[in-house]
Amino acid sequence: MSDLQTRPQEERVPAEPLGAAGSPRREVLPARRVPLGGVRGVEVERTLPQRDVPTVGAWCFVDRYGPSTAPMRVLPHPHTGLQTVTWPLSGPIRHRDSTGSDVVVRPGELDLMTAGRGVSHSEVADDGAELAGVQLWIALPEEVRHQAPRFEQHRDLPVLEGPASSGVVMVGRLGDRESPALVHTRALAAEVSLRPGTTVLPLDPRDEHAVLLLTGDAGDLDVDGAPLRPPGTPAGLLHLGTGRAELALEARAPVRVLLLGGEPFREDLLMWWNVVARTHEEVVEAREQWQARSSRFGVVAGHGDDRIPAPPLPGVRLLPRGRRA
Ligand code: MN
Repeated sequence: MSDLQTRPQEERVPAEPLGAAGSPRREVLPARRVPLGGVRGVEVERTLPQRDVPTVGAWCFVDRYGPSTAPMRVLPHPHTGLQTVTWPLSGPIRHRDSTGSDVVVRPGELDLMTAGRGVSHSEVADDGAELAGVQLWIALPEEVRHQAPRFEQHRDLPVLEGPASSGVVMVGRLGDRESPALVHTRALAAEVSLRPGTTVLPLDPRDEHAVLLLTGDAGDLDVDGAPLRPPGTPAGLLHLGTGRAELALEARAPVRVLLLGGEPFREDLLMWWNVVARTHEEVVEAREQWQARSSRFGVVAGHGDDRIPAPPLPGVRLLPRGRRA
């Protein structure tokens, strides 16, 4: 998926302060509604990045969409410096990319595209299909962010079963289950379907964690003894900080959540449009190379010359944003 805001603002993501481990917190990071383009295009709820909390572990972008029958036709667009995770909740999506991939991803399956120094891809669904899902980005650390792009699809992910829940480990390790998806920092993503009752999940207390409601009613879920969010507050991502060795999820009716986690990301990031970089100059170069159809981003077969042009850069140098929380 692409960030299709017509005038995206830069997102400067400062490094986590060292020594932050061991500090649980509890804050609902509010979702913003962002149109993904097109005449009746999909609208997404974006909960990362946030001005004050730009990342959870290396997770730097969290979009949830649907259910909707709005058409999804995201033409070729570039990425750098990140991995994209596509996790449909309903509706198949056809993914094509410049590494030669042409696959359909369905609910329960994971697409993981590692952009490295540059990749391009498209995502298209059949008109009229009911679509829902999440699109996540993982920031790549310095030592691998210039590597060649690659793509993986995983159809047989490890599952968790408990008396009141079942889950799928999409990325990383949860308890004794580990996803085969290749990531470059300690990161966790798991979908957990809860039935009435309490489920206690083991966490790595060194890591930050966050919970996003995927389906069901927020009022039916308590997280560590308190409501997922206070009654009457808008939807968002519940950020739990670090320092938790387990997480108690108590459901009063069926709900499905996404659990995200990971080691706090130590590097400054500069995010603009679909580019995760470190400096203003890198962003300018990536934009110019996409516009010039540079080989850096390859070609997505099957779209002719159709592609998403880069939006204009802000008229000012991309400036840092402070982390205040
Ligand atoms: Mn994309």
